[in-house]
Amino acid sequence: MSDSRASGPDAAARFHPASSLDYVPREQLRRLQSQRLKEVVSRVYDHVAFYRRRMDQLGVTPSDIRSIDDVDKLPFTLKSDLRDEYPFGLFAAPLGQIVRLHASSGTTGKPIVAAYTQHDLDVWKNVMVRTFAAAGLSEGDIVQNSYGYGLFTGGLGAHYGAEALGATVIPTSGGNTDRQIMILKDFGVTAICCTPSYFLHVLDRAAEIGIDVRHLPLRVGVFGAEPWTEAMRRRIEELAGIKAYDIYGLTEIIGPGVGAECSGQNGLHIFEDHFYPEIVDPETGRPVPEGADGELVITTLTKQAMPMLRYRSRDITAFLPGSSPSGRTLRRIRRIFHRSDDMFIVRGVNVFPSQIEEALLRVEGTLPHYQITLTRQRGLDDVDVQIEVTPELFSDRVSAMENLQQRLAKAIEQTVNIRVNVSLVEPHSIARSEGKARRVIDKRDL
Ligand code: ADP
Repeated sequence: MSDSRASGPDAAARFHPASSLDYVPREQLRRLQSQRLKEVVSRVYDHVAFYRRRMDQLGVTPSDIRSIDDVDKLPFTLKSDLRDEYPFGLFAAPLGQIVRLHASSGTTGKPIVAAYTQHDLDVWKNVMVRTFAAAGLSEGDIVQNSYGYGLFTGGLGAHYGAEALGATVIPTSGGNTDRQIMILKDFGVTAICCTPSYFLHVLDRAAEIGIDVRHLPLRVGVFGAEPWTEAMRRRIEELAGIKAYDIYGLTEIIGPGVGAECSGQNGLHIFEDHFYPEIVDPETGRPVPEGADGELVITTLTKQAMPMLRYRSRDITAFLPGSSPSGRTLRRIRRIFHRSDDMFIVRGVNVFPSQIEEALLRVEGTLPHYQITLTRQRGLDDVDVQIEVTPELFSDRVSAMENLQQRLAKAIEQTVNIRVNVSLVEPHSIARSEGKARRVIDKRDL
């Protein structure tokens, strides 16, 4: 390892014992993955009727799994399987060993359950320590945790990770924005964790009450749990004077801590010693060519309570080529622009909210708050995009507003290839969320 890695934003991570596996030689990692895959497959075959059935159907037994390369012999697990086995059907440990239950936020239907043994909580803590360390945090940082505490995994996941890192954690949870801002300021907070959309709301409110976040000690944002674009990152970094890092996770796998950006801010390193990633064609389930877009599929290698074999995340991404500037050897995935079930189809065209976000952030004068409403009249779909504009512009001449509206409609049309109706609305007229933003309202009754 070169000495240059011993300084700079990654120095803290480099020397944090929890992060040592971030830099492990690939061959050593593969051996560890192979060993762990064999263990987890035996575990689910012996303890989970669902997996034994699925493996029997495919004619696969644990002895067929000799290395990590055999992972594609294993069955996929779908979100619907988790719902069918609701609540405890996929547990691979007796209840007596299960010390925590969580449930997904239910963005796309009935919640699903996640279970943890004490060992699983330790794994979770480990990957969250590595997540924060990768964002350049260490002892001495004051972390305001504005992810929701409760059934949602964000709050407690980030909490225990930041504590184990040695940072000072303030468990504010989401909401009560004025109090969040007071604490941010009075406690000299250096890092905040929440959804990017909620942080934008915090920034708006701070400006409204006369606080410029750029003048506070805050220097890092650890944002995730929902899709956000590179343009949104730049906007946040500029408005708040911080570095904004993307983190990724999902309840089915563990919660936050599946992948995280490092100082390179170019893709998320997957904690592959615990979560084995594949990227497949969502239609055929076959691996996509190296570097191509596809659905992220994850196998948990170390979980005890509720291991997942080849879980179909429905999140669309790609493996990034090349090595990371931070020296981490873990594979990187491109930031997740969308989940496959985020997509809506209008007049035969597939559209993702993130494409609209990208287009509107290219145009000056708008705020990064928007909402998309889909309607259908006499069989024809319409897309209405409401976008907030800056207070100066809102009070400006009508012609300036009209001009902006046209530029936005054009920018969106160029990006998604369909005409949309754009309405400019005053600041604060679109509902804010304390957690995940709801970008699309579908009134089409499909
Ligand atoms: P739900 O599926 O109900 O939203 P979760 O809270 O478990 O439940 O959310 C996990 C999902 O959130 C992921 O599958 C992904 O779609 C989204 N997500 C999490 N982190 C990110 C991120 N950094 N970028 C984009 N999407 C993310």
